[in-house]
Amino acid sequence: MKLSWKNLLLWSLPIIVISFFIWQGFFVPINNENNNNVANSRMTYGRFLEYLDMGWVKKVDIYDNGHTAIIEAVGPELGNRIQKIRVELPASAPELITKLKSNHIDLDAHPTKNNTAVWSLVGNLLFPLLLIISLAFLFRKSNKTAGGPGQAMSFGKSKALFQIEAKTGIIFDDVAGIDEAKEEFEEIVTFLKKPEYFTAVGAKIPKGVLLVGPPGTGKTLLAKAIAGEANVPFFSISGSEFVEMFVGVGASRVRDLFKKAKENAPCIIFIDEIDAVGRQRGTGIGGGNDEREQTLNQLLTEMDGFEGNTGIIVIAATNRADILDAALLRPGRFDRQVSIDIPDFKGRLAILNVHAKNKKISPNVSLSIIARRTPGFSGADLANLLNESAILTARQRKNKITLNEIDKAIDRIIAGMEGTALIDSKSKRLIAYHEIGHAIVGTLLKDHENVQKVTLIPRGQARGLTWFTPSEDQSLISRSQIKAKIMGALGGRAAEEIIFGESEITTGASNDLQQVTSMARQMVTRFGMSSIGPLSLENEDPNPFLGRGMGNTNEYSDEIAIKIDKQIQEIIKDCHKKATEIIKNNRVIIDKLVDILIEKETIDGQEFRNIIKQYTKIPQKS
Ligand code: ADP
Ligand code: ZN
Repeated sequence: MKLSWKNLLLWSLPIIVISFFIWQGFFVPINNENNNNVANSRMTYGRFLEYLDMGWVKKVDIYDNGHTAIIEAVGPELGNRIQKIRVELPASAPELITKLKSNHIDLDAHPTKNNTAVWSLVGNLLFPLLLIISLAFLFRKSNKTAGGPGQAMSFGKSKALFQIEAKTGIIFDDVAGIDEAKEEFEEIVTFLKKPEYFTAVGAKIPKGVLLVGPPGTGKTLLAKAIAGEANVPFFSISGSEFVEMFVGVGASRVRDLFKKAKENAPCIIFIDEIDAVGRQRGTGIGGGNDEREQTLNQLLTEMDGFEGNTGIIVIAATNRADILDAALLRPGRFDRQVSIDIPDFKGRLAILNVHAKNKKISPNVSLSIIARRTPGFSGADLANLLNESAILTARQRKNKITLNEIDKAIDRIIAGMEGTALIDSKSKRLIAYHEIGHAIVGTLLKDHENVQKVTLIPRGQARGLTWFTPSEDQSLISRSQIKAKIMGALGGRAAEEIIFGESEITTGASNDLQQVTSMARQMVTRFGMSSIGPLSLENEDPNPFLGRGMGNTNEYSDEIAIKIDKQIQEIIKDCHKKATEIIKNNRVIIDKLVDILIEKETIDGQEFRNIIKQYTKIPQKS
């Protein structure tokens, strides 16, 4: 369960009540005791009267509205020393006072002070209060570490409603590789700068633009660039901040945000992660979330509320436009959509150029080689890559970034932190065979990508790694390419089986097998690449809010389901057989390569191929 303020309140209520009773039960009597000073010995009322008659009582203090008396007395039973003794007095003891008076005993009555009642009340509240405070502490902490807002206490109008930057200082030149999106936005800058051009001919300025794209592709950067270029203030808020709040807070924040924006128009309002509030209403997944719906409704109201030409442009970002509530996409709201994709080679090169500007990079480094090596990297990854390389360079007290640091940074971003290699042992040999198995199967298959390097230096979760040079065009992949990938991925396990025997195979292949199964499954159910025929039986990740596969509404019969499983098995069996053959037929080369790998710990792709070439022919890659 997530710790939220709602939950906190829910949980703390019973705690308050329970702790109240605990407090009442244990602490109040002690409190009374303290009131009446220290009087551990007790005496009955009757004995007290006898003491009075004997003249042994020196002083009487009456407490508790006459219910208790603490007396000071001497007597043979008391060791002839003055002692304080507690006496419970009967409800009505009128004769007592007269008796005390006639015996000239020092008498004092202590009324129950009001302020003791106050103190006991405070005492009663203190415990639950402390509990709440410590819970709140816990909550804040967990919220911070979870990357949450940590500001949930700032209700409605209080602090940190949204961020305002009067000048973002970002210009279009800082944004690279997304030229189409930039063109679209250059027009918006003109809207902001010269609205009269448009209003003169009766054109309505768009109110909302939706930026759709994976994280780190520069959506925020682009929105800031618009504000920077048009020289208008930039208001930003993130949808995810609304999710953990009390009902009504999100809506009031939205209201405040738009109010402030109107005062500062022309300006840009940027709503990041709008899907957190703007998801389709009433899907019923995870229960209704009143807070989210209210926030969304308020957002819709605000967007309808301002006229198109007030000079406010709302830019929202998401990586999933398909799950947004249709009401958000209606004309007059976010009616423009601009998608931003993970950059291609040209885009990556352009982004690298932007981020290389303020760094000292050795002239031998070609940014285009880096761009080649990094398919799938987002703009943020690339910025991070250059920064990591700069840090590595500085750590070695070098003054220019070289290819060496860049290579290290790429590996780290893809596969995690580098560990230290195992010392020579049976497992090191097994890992070596496993990796060489991947590498040799990959190398000897015409449709497989080239080996870039094989290494026994662990990284992240992997204890050895075989890197392949990724091909640029990942969008169209042929059946034989997928099968080659499956064979390559099975090469590791196949080598373990043949060299060490069936009983010695290890868990090291689990990740490979996961990939293999997923690729084979997709061949059958998505790409129509099996004998079931060209049918699309499953969609890609249909509902990201359910567990994987949970949202699959099976559109096929049980009969087909059985066939699918059979086909998957057949593909994998066939590929496993081919991988095994390659391993068996090249045992001599493999042994040789393993020896070299154990000694050197890393073999680079060209060297690897040169060794193989001495023994066998490498097919020309397609
Ligand atoms: P998003 O909002 O899409 O998640 P950001 O705009 O926050 O991504 O990008 C994070 C950082 O990555 C930017 O501050 C910038 O340094 C870098 N970056 C991302 N995309 C680009 C790009 N197209 N051009 C230049 N830098 C980029
Ligand atoms: Zn493997």
